[in-house]
Amino acid sequence: MDRLGALLGRRQMNLPPVRGRLTANAPLAPLVWFKAGGAAQWLFEPADTDDLSDFLRALDPSVPVMGLGLGSNLIVRDGGVPGVVVRLGKPFARVAADGLTLTCGGGASGILVSSTARDAGIAGVEFLRSIPGTVGGFVRMNGGAYGREVADVLVEAQVVTRDGTLTTLGKADLNYRYRHSDLPEGAIVVSATFRGEAGDPVAIQTEMDRIAAAREASQPLRSKTGGSTFKNPDGHKAWALVDAAGCRGLRKGDAQVSEKHCNFLLNTGNATSADIEALGEEVRAKVLAASGVTLEWEIQRVGVA
Ligand SMILES: Cc1cc2nc3c(=O)[nH]c(=O)nc-3n(C[C@H](O)[C@H](O)[C@H](O)COP(=O)(O)OP(=O)(O)OC[C@H]3O[C@@H](n4cnc5c(N)ncnc54)[C@H](O)[C@@H]3O)c2cc1C
Repeated sequence: MDRLGALLGRRQMNLPPVRGRLTANAPLAPLVWFKAGGAAQWLFEPADTDDLSDFLRALDPSVPVMGLGLGSNLIVRDGGVPGVVVRLGKPFARVAADGLTLTCGGGASGILVSSTARDAGIAGVEFLRSIPGTVGGFVRMNGGAYGREVADVLVEAQVVTRDGTLTTLGKADLNYRYRHSDLPEGAIVVSATFRGEAGDPVAIQTEMDRIAAAREASQPLRSKTGGSTFKNPDGHKAWALVDAAGCRGLRKGDAQVSEKHCNFLLNTGNATSADIEALGEEVRAKVLAASGVTLEWEIQRVGVA
């Protein structure tokens, strides 16, 4: 945290009162899939939406704020994250079905969304079964798999913006592209509404099982990883470019390009986030040299080195 202190001029932050949990200097490595990286200057787990709104409204506007889900698409740099990291816990993890509509808390997992949909006979969100993450992360990242993505099913998202305002954003406001949205900086997705189509629960379960089995066969699901590292460039598969550049299995310290799926980086032991990010940069350089294509990071890299 020394680096964070220096970065923020060792300013003592007078944080507004909260009803949830506010923790100073909170290690983030245990909360992210890579199991690497530094601490959050402050970790805030709000009691409910009002708690989050009141806190953000009263918080010094110069303090940076970011959302954290399951950390399945994140490299948290080793020097930690300045400002406040907001993590939505149990009060935001509920999912309810009404007709063909699902109302999902921002902290709900993809598995809960898809299984609630199955039980209610709602088809079309089976793909969320296979993406480790929360509704907040899916909305922010336009998460997708097997030909579907959040943009196909989202009706609207409820968001608390950095100034504490609770607002509703539609698809057009989010301006979805491949694994990207225009969610405003510092905004936290507290819930989202998805709409599917009528389906038979047995057929929905069969599709969920098919997706889960395909995943298991192709991805290192039980590893410390961050999911797909690079976006697929137009007309290319990122993994194929990485493979063709000779990077399958490439190592830097305990960081390694997965042998099973070349677009996944792994922490095989005690890799630092610096090791993981440097390995990613080496892969980008090798791919550029071999194919002339510049890979863009899909994994979000946050914090200070
Ligand atoms: C094994 C594995 C397989 C994966 N497969 C896929 C796949 O098939 N398709 C796919 O799209 N992704 C995949 N991913 C990546 C990842 O699961 C998705 O990007 C997911 O949407 C991230 O969700 P999260 O809640 O964990 O977000 P995090 O990783 O915690 O954060 C990702 C981004 O979302 C922001 N964020 C998180 N929560 C909120 C919130 N409540 N409000 C505002 N912003 C928020 C963070 O600030 C960050 O910018 C995979 C990852 C792993 C580890």
